[in-house]
Amino acid sequence: MSSGGILSLPNELLIAIATAGQGGSVAVQQLRPEWSLSQVCRRFRDIIVGAPVLWTLIELDLHSDMLADIANLYFTRSQACHLRTILRECKDTDDELIAERLSVIVPHIHRIRQLRIFLFANPQIALAPLRHVAAPNLERLEIRNTLEAFEMNPVEIFSLGAPMLTFICMKCITPHFPVPWAAALTHLKLHRDGEWRDSSSSLAATITTQCLCLAHLSLSVVYLEMGRLHLPFLERLHIEIPEEDQHHLLAIFDLFDTPALAEFTISGTHADQILVLFNSTSLPHSSFPALTSLTFVNGSCACRVIPADAHPITSAPRLFPALSSLSLIHQCFTPHLVTGIFASASTWPLLQTLTLCPPGHRSLDDVCEALWNARHAKARTLPKVRLSAPLLARILSREKEEEEKSGMDMEFFDPSQLISAFR
Ligand SMILES: [Zn+2]
Repeated sequence: MSSGGILSLPNELLIAIATAGQGGSVAVQQLRPEWSLSQVCRRFRDIIVGAPVLWTLIELDLHSDMLADIANLYFTRSQACHLRTILRECKDTDDELIAERLSVIVPHIHRIRQLRIFLFANPQIALAPLRHVAAPNLERLEIRNTLEAFEMNPVEIFSLGAPMLTFICMKCITPHFPVPWAAALTHLKLHRDGEWRDSSSSLAATITTQCLCLAHLSLSVVYLEMGRLHLPFLERLHIEIPEEDQHHLLAIFDLFDTPALAEFTISGTHADQILVLFNSTSLPHSSFPALTSLTFVNGSCACRVIPADAHPITSAPRLFPALSSLSLIHQCFTPHLVTGIFASASTWPLLQTLTLCPPGHRSLDDVCEALWNARHAKARTLPKVRLSAPLLARILSREKEEEEKSGMDMEFFDPSQLISAFR
């Protein structure tokens, strides 16, 4: 198309192009479509500036001296529209200055539907402008702090209410409970690194008594030391165990009174604990009648020798009578687990899907061997296997080598999306 062609675009199409270009996060303000297109010519400028919807995604750098000017430009041009606001601190800036800059959004907080804040600061100081404020239209709130030194005290935020708030994600920041906006929450993610104790917090009690609508919950295990959780509508649960913590999986599972739970993912697990869990017949307090999907994830671990009392899992776990999908992502001793599941005397009648991403090359060979050996088990139905790229490649090359089909229902699985979902 010639430049004349571009310049003759109808107004609606130009606005649609600019809107489509806003999909990703652009670090440099001047590269955002509403800025670049408004500088093409006078007509484009008039159209872009006159389209409030193009000024509703506000991305601000908290270290920038220009923040207030840019923010006010967007607040003005977006007119009365609802807003998505992203505030980023990407280098160490004085906490008081961060608070001062962050306070520019307060007069417009009633228009903000989604708020994301990335901090490298003491949140007690940096988030102070949001403390005694109401956010009547806020639906999603995400605050991630990378400065862990200030994670000790819960942070009070929107103490005057946020009745529409359904989604919260906080990293290295804990909201000060009880809060006046917990009732509508359907998604809650609270993560922090390392050891942390807050004896005054009543997080478990608050979640149990205030967050009755929760459907998705994601927590660092450290929060669970505060008691059992009763959540009647919880469907998806993710628990993160830090590398240095040695929590017993059985004890973690026994903390949940969640009769509707369908998907449970735990990161930071080790195979010896999975074997204990799967060989247990009951828990003192908890049961999982609706649980269909279990995922165990790990990054790396130092486990080298499988404990002598780690019995293989040759039958479906009694604790999870409805389990149909099991995923082992970068899990130590994956070959041992797989060998048990595929052993000829094994009984897993409900298992439909087994997802495998073994760690390391040695483990790949062993898992490949275990799967290969199961190929003649025609007497029972084998689950569909979803395999990481290197494992799938091994099986396929084995088929070529042996001039025989594995006979298994296989498909490719990319673990990166699953892992990034927890970050
Ligand atoms: Zn391990």
